[in-house]
Amino acid sequence: MTARVLDGKALSAKLRARVAEAAKGLPNTPGLAVVLVGEDPASQVYVRNKHRQAEEAGFKSFVHRLPADTPEDEVVALVERLNGDEAVDGILVQMPLPGGMDALRVIAAIDPDKDVDGLTETNAGRLLLGRRGLVPCTPQGSMMLAAEALPDLTGKTAVVVGRSILVGKPLALLLQAANATVTMAHSRTADLQAVCREADVLCAAVGRPGLLTKDHVKLGAVVIDVGINRVDAPEKGEGKTKLVGDVAPDAAEVAGAMTPVPGGVGPMTIACLLRNTVLAAARRRGLADPDV
Ligand code: NDP
Repeated sequence: MTARVLDGKALSAKLRARVAEAAKGLPNTPGLAVVLVGEDPASQVYVRNKHRQAEEAGFKSFVHRLPADTPEDEVVALVERLNGDEAVDGILVQMPLPGGMDALRVIAAIDPDKDVDGLTETNAGRLLLGRRGLVPCTPQGSMMLAAEALPDLTGKTAVVVGRSILVGKPLALLLQAANATVTMAHSRTADLQAVCREADVLCAAVGRPGLLTKDHVKLGAVVIDVGINRVDAPEKGEGKTKLVGDVAPDAAEVAGAMTPVPGGVGPMTIACLLRNTVLAAARRRGLADPDV
């Protein structure tokens, strides 16, 4: 068996087109504000991509770049200003923040109804309680990719490897809300291989290249690889690197469908950020959720 490739690039393009259409239907242009503190090179790339894709979706995009030594109080004050800015529907503070800065305090300052990353306690609580909120983007994108292969998860067994607040925990809640029977695995799981082999839907959100191999995958399973790991790629030339996931390529011999890295969950994450922004914009105006 060779797994069907779950193409996140193609699916995210469709989602972005729906979001752009929904944005046109709103009385005001949705606004996304991104706050970047410091010069982390990966963060600079992410923020540039978010800015470009927000503009392509017809949004107003506001990027606030602050030096790494900006006092925490100033970052919080900026977030509070954005909370009160009528042109801003979504606020995202790019992580990681420079060392020494209290990320939890900065996140807590974001108005939950503009929290398009879904990281505030309020949105985490809404997700846990099954109430309408803003759902973290990577787990939401992972669910959409899984739905491409398995539109109905009712009664299916799902295993999530990784229990971070950003990915693993919210993804497990979303899978459970979709009526899957969910197991969460982590670094202390006794027999990871046996647990993973039970999964109809196997999600890896760990950050360890190739941790899961074909021996972890049940025949025909849907594999969602959230991991993004930069590794040496001597085959591309001296000093070259490449991105790989948490799932080894040989898993495709056993899986029924599998997301590639890059080009799987990654592109869905930004598209879901735009989706959250258009949802936040509609809700802030008292309108029904657009069909995105
Ligand atoms: P964290 O480091 O916060 O969490 C990693 C999790 O993996 C932890 O729960 C940890 O367990 C678990 N883990 C570590 N080692 C093992 C092991 N040997 N066996 C089983 N579980 C293990 O990472 P994130 O959740 O933030 O990110 C995970 C991956 O996803 C990273 O590669 C990251 O780059 C990527 N990512 C991709 C995104 C995208 O857009 N595609 C967005 C966000 C993240 P424990 O809790 O016991 O320590």
